[in-house]
Amino acid sequence: MCDCCKAEGRDHVLRCGDAAKTRSARLYKVYVGRTTSVNLCRLCDIQLFKSGESRFLECNIRFAQNLFSSRSSSSDSLFD
Ligand SMILES: [Zn+2]
Repeated sequence: MCDCCKAEGRDHVLRCGDAAKTRSARLYKVYVGRTTSVNLCRLCDIQLFKSGESRFLECNIRFAQNLFSSRSSSSDSLFD
């Protein structure tokens, strides 16, 4: 499951097809001095690659808010 599509309420299977696979990507700007691993579908991965991390988070604001709001939760699977 794509963490970004999940946060944004999108169906990544619908967007990417049944064979949609997620791959893990690293975000570098969410935390200072720390990276965050997230699972992204192909479309989100391409969007991140093309627009860059800052723009990507701006375009997926709920996903960004999830990242920020769960920063203190160590049980959240989004994080290492
Ligand atoms: Zn996605």
